[in-house]
Amino acid sequence: MGVSSLLCDSVVNVFMLDPRLLDILCCPACRGDLEARASDLKCKACGLVYPIEDGIPVLLVDRAVKEG
Ligand SMILES: [Zn+2]
Repeated sequence: MGVSSLLCDSVVNVFMLDPRLLDILCCPACRGDLEARASDLKCKACGLVYPIEDGIPVLLVDRAVKEG
């Protein structure tokens, strides 16, 4: 617990309160648009799926899973 935890909480809150943040988030692999889903974000362009952990999108190619 500490500053980093507080920062994470605020990131969660901002993300939850303002879905328009999706407009400024993009796929780190191809810069494509991301589609918010129940528990992850899917790139509309290349199909990579990024997890959302504790409400925070993990936009790391290493963590992404290719989906259909
Ligand atoms: Zn992509």
